[in-house]
Amino acid sequence: MKRVTILVAALLLLCASATAAEPRHDIHFPDIPGCHTLKCDFHTHTVFSDGNVWPTVRIDEAWREGLDAIALTDHIEYQPHREDVPTNHSRPCELAAGRARELGILLIRGAEITRDTPPGHHNAIFLDDIDRLAKEDFFAVFDTAQKQGAFVFWNHPGWQGLEAGKWGEAQQTLLDKKQLHGIEICNGDSYYEYAHQLALDKGLTLVGNSDIHDPSPELQPTPEHHRTLTLVFARERNLESLHDALRAGRTAVWQKNRLIGNENELSAMFSACVRVNPPHHRSGNRMWVAIDNRGELEIELERIDETVRPARFVLAPLATTLVRFEASPELRAQGLPYRTANFLTGPAKPLNVKLVIPGD
Ligand SMILES: [Zn+2]
Ligand SMILES: [Zn+2]
Repeated sequence: MKRVTILVAALLLLCASATAAEPRHDIHFPDIPGCHTLKCDFHTHTVFSDGNVWPTVRIDEAWREGLDAIALTDHIEYQPHREDVPTNHSRPCELAAGRARELGILLIRGAEITRDTPPGHHNAIFLDDIDRLAKEDFFAVFDTAQKQGAFVFWNHPGWQGLEAGKWGEAQQTLLDKKQLHGIEICNGDSYYEYAHQLALDKGLTLVGNSDIHDPSPELQPTPEHHRTLTLVFARERNLESLHDALRAGRTAVWQKNRLIGNENELSAMFSACVRVNPPHHRSGNRMWVAIDNRGELEIELERIDETVRPARFVLAPLATTLVRFEASPELRAQGLPYRTANFLTGPAKPLNVKLVIPGD
């Protein structure tokens, strides 16, 4: 009997260590000057609301998928599993905290404030005590979130009904009271262009998340198919710096094969990803140049000046691409003007870059 117990214990230990050893697949977005690039998902669900996984599983997934930080944001007002999993708003983070420490994942206590549209759903993250937000009066909930120093964003503005996506009285009131700080311009596979414009008009931080409910699929991610994330440019890799960076609006959203953000951060990220090597061969105005892309995106470049060749080229992710440029010496001296079709600084507004060819 004793031997059996020992055997079972040993097997359990083996299983536990097997889980911990699951390989992590890094997401390649380099740091930018003065900031760490943290890969974050601020919108996830567990069985404590309408999700289908236990809280610790969210941490294992975050590790496996190369995330730095994750917020568990179960609905406060909607718990379809209530009969099996009793209401306990602080429990998901309590359960996940140990696993997060073991795997070095920054865990954020959050909640989804759930109302029909309007005003729709909002996430409050960096909360101290979620129970205090469980009240009927909509504005009282946000007063409480503010007292706890929460960062609040409007979720999936494209949801639901006739009023979906409309900047309503509720949002304006929250903004006036400094109780609304960000907006989900991307939720899963959806990108809301009007929400992106709203973010620019109202000075809201750009956020993009998975809003994952089911277990995360163990598929190899591709440039087109991966978890939608917010990149946060934080001074340090800790929760305080992460919160500061969100408040300061230093974010970019990585969704499908595009990066959406402010010009400063996007152009810093472009420079961090792309290295143009000196030409290794020339003939007249033509130059053969190897360009390294250290990032996760397949970067799509289109010429701005009609006289420059090529008209369009793509830099493969985490690889070196050979490009044959043709341009006048004058343009080469200024840097070749291209627009980066999948780095967006506004709706349908690509980032402009100048490619300087070293040693030219
Ligand atoms: Zn929601
Ligand atoms: Zn949600």
